[in-house]
Amino acid sequence: MSLSQEIKKNKPFLITGPCSAESEEQVLQTGEYLKSHGICDLFRAGVWKPRTRPNSFEGVGVKALPWLQKLQNNTGLKVCVEVAKAKHVEESLKAGIDALWIGARTTVSPFAVQEIAESLRGVDIPVLIKNPVNPELALWEGAFERMQAVGINDLSAIHRGFSSYTPNIYRNTPRWEIAIEFKRLNPEIPLIIDPSHICGKRELLALVSQKAMDLDMDGLMLETHPEPEKALSDPQQQLKPADLKLLLDGLLVRKAEISDPIFENKLGELREKIDRLDEDLIQLLASRMKIIEEIGKYKKQNNITILQVKRWNEILNLRTSAGNSVGLSEEFIFKILELIHQESIRTQHSIMG
Ligand code: PEP
Ligand code: MN
Repeated sequence: MSLSQEIKKNKPFLITGPCSAESEEQVLQTGEYLKSHGICDLFRAGVWKPRTRPNSFEGVGVKALPWLQKLQNNTGLKVCVEVAKAKHVEESLKAGIDALWIGARTTVSPFAVQEIAESLRGVDIPVLIKNPVNPELALWEGAFERMQAVGINDLSAIHRGFSSYTPNIYRNTPRWEIAIEFKRLNPEIPLIIDPSHICGKRELLALVSQKAMDLDMDGLMLETHPEPEKALSDPQQQLKPADLKLLLDGLLVRKAEISDPIFENKLGELREKIDRLDEDLIQLLASRMKIIEEIGKYKKQNNITILQVKRWNEILNLRTSAGNSVGLSEEFIFKILELIHQESIRTQHSIMG
């Protein structure tokens, strides 16, 4: 069975292990714990680490490959490493690594992805592709296409969030809508969530892991280290193996479907109500847009600008407080109004010619 089929079958598929392989003892100790507690379907360990700034720990390199082989032999665990160039692929294949993953800082570079693809031509190995650091779905999908073009078809995706300049609680903002859109467009490709790199800190891991399950994602990639505070990379986001076990034990894995007629009837009724309301919403939006057109024509006759900031402010204030009073968040109303407003401006702009 291919790895991607295995992932789809064993929900949630667990990719666990340290951020970086640091010593033989650390690799073996961690892997043996994970294996004996049934919380590892594929062991991860970074051997070559892409670092934001030079002079940080860049991984121990090829020296770690025999440690991973020993773990394979001792436990039967499958292992995966990150590759960022042809040389990494060559060394990993020589060492009998079971699967490769492409990191976020590599997926951004079509040259690097192409180089990896070329080095995999004619090879039969599963590849997991992390999203690029920037929120660009096409660039992520492009990496899959490069792999498929050289005959690599056992492919899975890893969502690890997106970097942003403005600080927020996450190390990499999840932008769930992008993961959801990936899943919608590529239903046959398993999608694994990487809470470690999304969160950047231990405290958020359980919440994000649960959210991944509630969004029906296929698996989790989670970093674990026997002494997280002393880890040579990503010390704030790694969990002790026993704490990882607790986190996983606490996860509620919900089903995407059940065949219970009572449940389905009730859900069907509620969905019908939603369908009717959505139809109403669309009719209302269309009526609103008709009036927007009238206003556009009238403004044109009178040579008046499309945007009047005072009116726009008034709308925002009135509608967000109206929303508030019926339990809708200001942010939600603001976003919807912004979208409607943009479309209105576009319509009036074309009327004004
Ligand atoms: C990693 O998995 O350790 C890693 C470097 O992740 P990312 O490519 O998501 O930054
Ligand atoms: Mn890491």
